[in-house]
Amino acid sequence: MPKLTGNCLCGNVSFEADGDIALQANCHCTDCQQVTGAAFATLIFMSEDDVKITGETKRFEHSVDSGNSLTKDFCPNCGSQMFGGNAARPGSLALRAGSINEQEHIKPQFNVYASRKLDCVTLDSSIPAFEKMPV
Ligand SMILES: [Zn+2]
Ligand SMILES: [Zn+2]
Repeated sequence: MPKLTGNCLCGNVSFEADGDIALQANCHCTDCQQVTGAAFATLIFMSEDDVKITGETKRFEHSVDSGNSLTKDFCPNCGSQMFGGNAARPGSLALRAGSINEQEHIKPQFNVYASRKLDCVTLDSSIPAFEKMPV
């Protein structure tokens, strides 16, 4: 039994992930807001090797303030954002909480880019919040 399963809105892209979750966090940066269309992104980081992907994704690549190159893999049919990657963290893949079926595993450990959060978002005070990305 895979630990995590999920799919895009239309079902053309699906995944099975089996392995340890390296970390999970809510990201309130502007990029995550724009790409998700939501107030923030909840990202679940796992080893790329532990995630089996079925279906074709399309990749958007962009660079951020730090100079890092980031990738966003999405379903070309329905547009769902599926997987995030960071050139500075090769081998690590970010799954997105909204596409995961096993919701009991979604437990963000902290908030990042709290400085850019929307005013209407109340942060969970029981987990740490960082103004930017902690190093
Ligand atoms: Zn789709
Ligand atoms: Zn972000």
